[in-house]
Amino acid sequence: MQRNFQLTVLGSSSAVPTHERNQTSLLLDLGSQSVLFDAGEGVQKQLITYKLKAQKISHVFISHLHPDHFIGLIGLLCSWELLGRNRKLTIVAPNGLQEIINLQLQIAGITLGFVIDYLVPTPGLDMPVLDEFRFDVRSFSLSHRVACFGYLLSEKPGERHLAVDKGMLPSLPYEAYRLLKAGRDFQDIDGKIYSHLDLTTGPDPIRQFAFFTDTNVQLHLAPYLLDCDLLYHDATFMDNLKEKAHETGHSTAIQAALFAKEAGVKKLILGHFSSRYGNLEPLRSEAQGVFPETYLAIEGKSFNINTIHK
Ligand SMILES: [Zn+2]
Ligand SMILES: [Zn+2]
Repeated sequence: MQRNFQLTVLGSSSAVPTHERNQTSLLLDLGSQSVLFDAGEGVQKQLITYKLKAQKISHVFISHLHPDHFIGLIGLLCSWELLGRNRKLTIVAPNGLQEIINLQLQIAGITLGFVIDYLVPTPGLDMPVLDEFRFDVRSFSLSHRVACFGYLLSEKPGERHLAVDKGMLPSLPYEAYRLLKAGRDFQDIDGKIYSHLDLTTGPDPIRQFAFFTDTNVQLHLAPYLLDCDLLYHDATFMDNLKEKAHETGHSTAIQAALFAKEAGVKKLILGHFSSRYGNLEPLRSEAQGVFPETYLAIEGKSFNINTIHK
């Protein structure tokens, strides 16, 4: 069975929104649950526009506490309260967000009817943040003007597949197939052993998404993203403004491409564009000169990472 792994861009502007672009936010749909990365202004409206179910969001990862990356969160929380959400929410963010949210709720006299678990990533390289049923997440200290974290979400391996193409499968009870798909052997009442290696093939390859914004390019982090399927990277400026990128804690499109190439990721998504760029094609073309599999974070665009099995 196909498991969802669909990333949709909700916003990709740097600080100032433009007519076409909202502030940073991306939604990763994993099927029964979704994960939100940053929550810039307008995130709720974008979820509605692209018909994405906000109620499915189980986790929110915030890169840093510049307002264009989290200011939409309070709106989401208040809407969920009005709509009667009771599913727990996990928010991963640098220190300070819990205080900000609590102050906003307290002054507004709002008590949420659902639990929020706040987690603060540990500064450093490749630090474990979360270990959930479907995925785990590791964090990376980035280089920006305030504490800022990159996140790498890795899917957990799914079930093994019954080897239907190897011919007739023996007629076994349901429990046997459950064990075989979980990678365990089955022994019937006569003592006959059915090996999972004979009757199943391996699980689908795992899929990974990395979210690296806002940051000066960090080439030393590239080895941690080897084979990552999708990398969203800060690409605020074109190459002629690389000094400005450096001073402001951002990257150029070419730097993002160099990082993607060094890491060996499969696809690069450029984002966090300066509002000075109406047409984004020149940024893409600069990056594609270095890393051909480069795409633009255009609002509403989705990236599906399909597995081999259907
Ligand atoms: Zn920003
Ligand atoms: Zn920032």
